[in-house]
Amino acid sequence: MVQITMPLNFLGTVYREIRQALVDMGEMFGLLEQPPEVSDAPDAEELVVSAGKVQFRNIHFGYDAARPILKGVSLTVGAGQTIAVVGPSGSGKSTIGRLLFRFYDVAEGAIEIDGQDIRSVTQESLHRHIGVVPQDTVLFNDTIRYNIAYGRPNASFEEIREAARAARIDTFIETLPDGYETTVGERGLKLSGGEKQRVGIARTLLKDPPILLLDEATSALDTETERSIQTELRAMSQGRSVITIAHRLSTVVDADLIVVLEDGRIVESGSHDQLLAKPGRYASMWHRQLADEEAA
Ligand code: ADP
Ligand code: MG
Repeated sequence: MVQITMPLNFLGTVYREIRQALVDMGEMFGLLEQPPEVSDAPDAEELVVSAGKVQFRNIHFGYDAARPILKGVSLTVGAGQTIAVVGPSGSGKSTIGRLLFRFYDVAEGAIEIDGQDIRSVTQESLHRHIGVVPQDTVLFNDTIRYNIAYGRPNASFEEIREAARAARIDTFIETLPDGYETTVGERGLKLSGGEKQRVGIARTLLKDPPILLLDEATSALDTETERSIQTELRAMSQGRSVITIAHRLSTVVDADLIVVLEDGRIVESGSHDQLLAKPGRYASMWHRQLADEEAA
């Protein structure tokens, strides 16, 4: 009996670990149903991040070969710079992030971090250096404390609270009967989209990575909360390389460079002032949003 249950228990543990690893990766982009399609090269090395320069070199990609999504995108995020990617829904913005995180490999071109092709490094080391705040944060069925500390499991309670404070979720947590020990997720307390997003931001603040990917990170928040979290995100962006995908253009005006993506191609790029000064895509998006906000 013992001889049988031991290996079964062992298999159960391994299964749980593998599953958890898939969940951990999937939760970043809400791709739970999708197993990772890439694996480490046999001679994969640890990614070494020094300056934190990220380079997309003429990348082409499609989820299936028959339908190209990115059609030759080149983009450099200099050390410590913030690059904003804007553009219509479906233009391929989130796909850029998924490729940087190496959920998929590019069909052509290369993505490099400090000169290292991301296909040549271990996925574990790649993921350790990139913090992602996705559109929809998925919570684990565990305590709020666990869900925040997931960004850095050995963080002290003080550090967890500090991250929660910076993400403007501390006051809310303190109103819960069990505070930080409250179980959340599918089988626990259901949080609103905005609350989940703030837990995701706290998690990333705590992880403290050199490269940040914000994919409409504040889209579920009301304007007031968004404004105050933007201040924190801006502070967090200091000294890091940041790619921010934004819906509300008011959140990208300070970016070092804004690129407009349309149908898988960069059609415009420049600073906010440069782009506003010409009658292009960005200027028309900007004026449309202003008009919508005034109407609302
Ligand atoms: P954006 O973030 O700019 O709205 P995405 O990068 O998410 O756009 O998607 C670009 C295109 O790729 C869309 O047409 C979308 O339907 C398609 N797409 C996204 N994810 C997948 C997927 N997992 N499989 C197939 N097609 C996808
Ligand atoms: Mg998207």
